[in-house]
Amino acid sequence: MEESPSVRAEIVVDVAAIRHNVRRLGEVTGTPVMTVVKADGYGHGLLESARAAREGGAAWLGVATLDEALALRAGGDTGPLLCWLTVPSDDPGPALAAGVDVTAYTTEELDRIAAARVPGARVQLKVDTGLSRGGALPADWPALVERARRGQEAGELTVTGVWSHLARSDEPDEAANDEQQRVFDEALAVVEAAGLRPEVRHLANSAAALLRPQARYDLVRCGIASYGLDPAPGVTPPLGLRPAMTARASLALTKRVEAGASVSYGHTWTAERATTLGLVPVGYADGVPRIAGNRAEVWVAGARRPVRGRVCMDQLVVDLGDLGDLDEDLDDDLSAGAEAVLFGPGDRGEPTAQDWAEACETISYEIVSRIGGRMVRRHV
Ligand code: PLP
Repeated sequence: MEESPSVRAEIVVDVAAIRHNVRRLGEVTGTPVMTVVKADGYGHGLLESARAAREGGAAWLGVATLDEALALRAGGDTGPLLCWLTVPSDDPGPALAAGVDVTAYTTEELDRIAAARVPGARVQLKVDTGLSRGGALPADWPALVERARRGQEAGELTVTGVWSHLARSDEPDEAANDEQQRVFDEALAVVEAAGLRPEVRHLANSAAALLRPQARYDLVRCGIASYGLDPAPGVTPPLGLRPAMTARASLALTKRVEAGASVSYGHTWTAERATTLGLVPVGYADGVPRIAGNRAEVWVAGARRPVRGRVCMDQLVVDLGDLGDLDEDLDDDLSAGAEAVLFGPGDRGEPTAQDWAEACETISYEIVSRIGGRMVRRHV
């Protein structure tokens, strides 16, 4: 029997798995790796994920916000670090002074960076090659590059990188990938013609890093694969990546119910025969998707048990099956206190974050980055 969790509910993060995955991504792509640790390391812990990534050989780290970048610096990370989502009210000064590469999409952002007057300010320029999210459109790119060139000449900043992001990298055969890459190459030519020689040019996230070798350039930005999850399920070849997160809880209660008993709000599930229910003390306030009700499975005592009825704010109910007379037949690993694994690496037969994503009509990114709430997070 597995050791029962000593707490109500916890997220266990295997940092050795992150280390392994980052190392593997470097080997497989043959390219320096930026590990993306935004959103609290996709739910795995910002600092712990960053440390594991550096130990696994990550040349760079990537985050969305300036606050995330500063938290990494405060936590002791001193290596190359890119941030890509500032807003006009942000002051880029502290991050620039801490040696963070700040991304600019507009000339106004370059003006703010210049106004911060940070010697050696490092700036990466992002071109929107077709995702229609951040980045300068190709029509605005020459003006952005020219403002950056003048800034570099004036000693206001140094252009250290040029990058973009793909919309359909998990569909490697889509022509949109070729088109975005064509636009990226044109944008690079504009940069070169301006006499700028950035240290890094990068385009690929995990899926592109693994599935589109020609998109690797000088650096691959890997998020989800660093945490051992498949960026393109059904497409990515087996690479030996190891899911790093396990979400588990102690059963709060088990009870026998008779045929006809209906479960949870709205009575969306009714027992057709007598069964034993287990109460798992996590709910949507802990990041369990509410849509998991009557769809997902939880692993208890060596088997996957279906979630029955609606997921509540603090709890959900699983069906442990017909265990006969509770008092006589229920053994320890099916009674209150027993381990209930929502998802994990899958090697014991438990569901994976990908299984939960499929059950909940979402992606594994959302499952791992939202799970948490009152669950304790432990790094092992
Ligand atoms: N690059 C950027 C700009 C991103 O926003 C993200 C994450 O969404 C990544 C890279 C990493 O993507 P993935 O987790 O698919 O590797």
